[in-house]
Amino acid sequence: MNRIKVGILGATGMAGQRYLELLNDHPYFDVCYLAASPRSAGKKYKEAVSSRWILNRSVAEEFANITVKNVDQVKEAADCKLVFSALDSSIAKEVEPKYAAAGKVVISNASAFRNEPDVPVVIPEINSHHLQIIERQKANRGWSGFIVTKPNCSIQSYLLPTYLLHRKFPVAEMVVQTMQAISGAGYPGLSAIQIMGNVVPYIDGEEHKSEQEPLKILGSVETDGIKNSQFPRISAHCNRVPTIDGHMACVSLSFQGEVPTIPQILDCWQEVPSLDLPLAPKKPLVIHTDSNRPQVLLDREDQSGMAVHVGRLRSCPVHHIRFVGLSHNTLRGAAGGGLLIAELLAKTNLIT
Ligand code: NAP
Repeated sequence: MNRIKVGILGATGMAGQRYLELLNDHPYFDVCYLAASPRSAGKKYKEAVSSRWILNRSVAEEFANITVKNVDQVKEAADCKLVFSALDSSIAKEVEPKYAAAGKVVISNASAFRNEPDVPVVIPEINSHHLQIIERQKANRGWSGFIVTKPNCSIQSYLLPTYLLHRKFPVAEMVVQTMQAISGAGYPGLSAIQIMGNVVPYIDGEEHKSEQEPLKILGSVETDGIKNSQFPRISAHCNRVPTIDGHMACVSLSFQGEVPTIPQILDCWQEVPSLDLPLAPKKPLVIHTDSNRPQVLLDREDQSGMAVHVGRLRSCPVHHIRFVGLSHNTLRGAAGGGLLIAELLAKTNLIT
């Protein structure tokens, strides 16, 4: 495979920094373009992020002196075949179509296009077949490029174990309560005085996304677009908690028909497909039997922050079963999830 030139829109933000961390020495991709708001445009990358760098490792030398462009200047991305978008949704809505119209593959972290029937929302282990809709999207919109999105960051924590059950034992209802880390709100997020020692039982727009996006991911590809699954019916409570990274979710499920036993559930969870891609974790779903796991501090970084952790599997006196899921929100839930989609597109020759 020839190496592919890529760019990052929103390169200075929380997800953008993670993209650069993961793209350093990547076997498929070379970074040739970094873009952000007019506030950062014209600065060297290291200057643009000097007061807002949040990673443990410093900026890689090869990216530090790249001059940041304004995301609006699409022509500056002429060399790129693919751009990762880590923009706020309102900006993404305007900007991402311009890149797709200019022939770029756009992998988006933003929610702007997730509800469009011709735009796939992809978790590669679950619904890579939804990428079929790309040709329809290009035809509908007259673009020579296209947009693929990844879902909201908390969904990764619990949809993979739910899907592995749902495909054998259809799920009727899911109640999910998320505990979402501060970094999920982007930089600078909530002030210390708002979140330290506190739990905020509201994240704007998050419950709606948590109740709708899984249905699209579990949906079917029809000729006119992706049709949402009718099941499970989902009730979500989304909370911001004072952890830095890592979204945890407590999930209760009830099934439409046969209720799987605990050994049957564990069997289903063992059947997760492992992808042959550079960033794909060897064990995409790690099952814990210790009653106090998974834990944010102990488990979020596992396998480069790409694994989903599940534990506390037990029966439920109200629904049928319950469990706890965990994943790293800026890695699996943001840049890592986006990069995994890009690797899949590259490996299947969908980046031309
Ligand atoms: P962030 O830290 O606030 O970064 C936002 C980025 O967008 C920065 O690069 C910023 O550039 C740029 N930007 C802001 N206003 C702009 C404008 N008017 N024009 C052009 N660029 C502008 O946010 P984030 O947490 O990285 O999130 C980025 C996207 O990813 C959001 O859609 C978010 O919902 C999604 N996401 C985030 C996470 C997470 O865990 N953080 C997880 C999944 C998805 P400047 O530095 O120049 O202002």
